[in-house]
Amino acid sequence: MGKKQKFLIIFLIFLFIPLNCYAQGSDILCTSEHFILKAFPGSPSDAIPSSKETQEFCNFYERVIEELRGKFGGELKGKITVVFGGKQAQGTGGRTVAEVYSSKLPLYNFGTHEIFHVALEDLLGPPPLLLLTVRPAPPFWSPLGLEELACTVFELHFWERSPQLHIYARVYQELNNWPSLETILSQEANLTFQEMEFPLESFITFLLENYPPSCFKALWQYQADLALSPTLNLQKAIQQAYGKPLAKLEEEWRSSLEKISVESDWYKTVSLHRDSQLLLATISSLITAQAEPIKIQLDSLTQLNEALKPIAKIWNSAPYGILIQPLKDFSSLEENLVRAKELSKKAEKAVQLLQVVQRNLGSQNWNEAYGNFYELRGALVALGEQSLLPWVDKNLEELKGKVPPELVRSLEGKVFPWWGWVLIGCGAAGVLGLGGWFFVFKRRAHQKGKGQQP
Ligand SMILES: [Zn+2]
Repeated sequence: MGKKQKFLIIFLIFLFIPLNCYAQGSDILCTSEHFILKAFPGSPSDAIPSSKETQEFCNFYERVIEELRGKFGGELKGKITVVFGGKQAQGTGGRTVAEVYSSKLPLYNFGTHEIFHVALEDLLGPPPLLLLTVRPAPPFWSPLGLEELACTVFELHFWERSPQLHIYARVYQELNNWPSLETILSQEANLTFQEMEFPLESFITFLLENYPPSCFKALWQYQADLALSPTLNLQKAIQQAYGKPLAKLEEEWRSSLEKISVESDWYKTVSLHRDSQLLLATISSLITAQAEPIKIQLDSLTQLNEALKPIAKIWNSAPYGILIQPLKDFSSLEENLVRAKELSKKAEKAVQLLQVVQRNLGSQNWNEAYGNFYELRGALVALGEQSLLPWVDKNLEELKGKVPPELVRSLEGKVFPWWGWVLIGCGAAGVLGLGGWFFVFKRRAHQKGKGQQP
C-alpha cells in the first residue's frame, strides 16, 4: 500500500470518529464532571467500549463519586483519567488509571477498582499503613492492606454483591474453622488468597454497613505506630476510630455472619469455589517453586488447562468469582474438578522428575538420569506437554551412549504408545490455557505503579 493510500484511509477513519471526540483529541472517548475516558492508542477495537457504553460508564462512575462524597464529604482533587485497552490490564499511576474492558466479557468487566484508589485517597487522605496487611502467596504478588481491600469492597458494593460477599466469607470461615482476624493477619494458618481476602473484606463491609462513614474515615486516617505489629496497630486503630475494642467488633461481625442462613446450593457453590481456588493455589505454587533452569510452563500443560477451562469460565463470569445466584447444576463442575485434581497430581510428578533429572545430569548420574528421562517422557505425554519432548528425546539419545546397554534394553521394552500422540493431538486444541483464569488474578495482583502512566 502506497503512502498516499494509507494517508487517505487514515483520513477517512478520522471522518467517522464522532466530532466531540475529535475536538478533544482522538483518543478521548467521553468526558464528564470527574472523568476523562480514553482509549489507549492502537488498542484492538474489542478492548474499547462503544460510545453508548462509554456514556453509561461515565454515568456509573459519576454515581460512584456522588455516593462517596455523600459518605465521606470532600471533593476530588481533579479529574480522573480512565484509559481502556492498554496492554497492562489494570493499574494506577497518579490520576490516570487503566481499567479493563472487553466486549467479549460480561459488562461488570468494565473496571472500577482502580478508580477507588484515586477517589478514596482524594476523599480520605494518603493510604493507611499497617492496617489489615497480609502478603499473599503466589500467584498474588502484591500485599493486601486496608486500601486494597477497601477498593474491592466498594467495587462489590457498587456492583451490588455485598450480600453475596458475606455468604462467601461465612462459608469460607466455616470451612476453615473460623480463624480469627488475628490468625488471618498473622499468616500462620497458611491460608490461600481468598481464604484471607473474603473474611477481611466482609469485615470491612460490615463496618461500613453498621457504623457511620466518619468511623471508617478515622480508621483510614489512623497514624500507624511503626514499632507495633499489624495486629496491635489494628487494635489501636479500631479502638480510636470506633470507640470499641477490635474483639468486640469482630464478635459482632462474626455473629452477623453466623446469622446468615446459607441455603444448601449456596453452601455447595462456595465450597466448590474454595476447592477451585485451593487447586489453583496448589498448581501455582508447584509451577513457581521450580528451582532448576528448565521449567514446566503452565500454558504448556494442555490437558490440565483443558480441564481447568470450564472451571475458570464459571468463576470468571462474576467479579472476583462472586456470583449473584448459587449454581444449580454442580455435576460438570465437580467432574472437571476431579479431573483437574488428577492432572495436577500428574503435573506434580512431572515437575519433580524434571527437577531430579536436571540435578542428576548436573552430577553426571547418567543411569538415574536415563531412567528419570524415560519416566518424565511418559508423564509429559499424559499431560499433553509437548514443548519439552524434543529436549527429553535429545537427552535420551545422548545418554544411550553413556549407560549400560541392558538398562537401555529394559527401558526400551516400555515403548512409547501410539495413543500417546493421539492424546497430544487432543490436548493441543486446548492451548487457550489459564489466560482466562488469570484474568481475575491480574486484576488483583497488579502493582500500583505510582507515576507510571499507561
Ligand atoms: Zn488495587
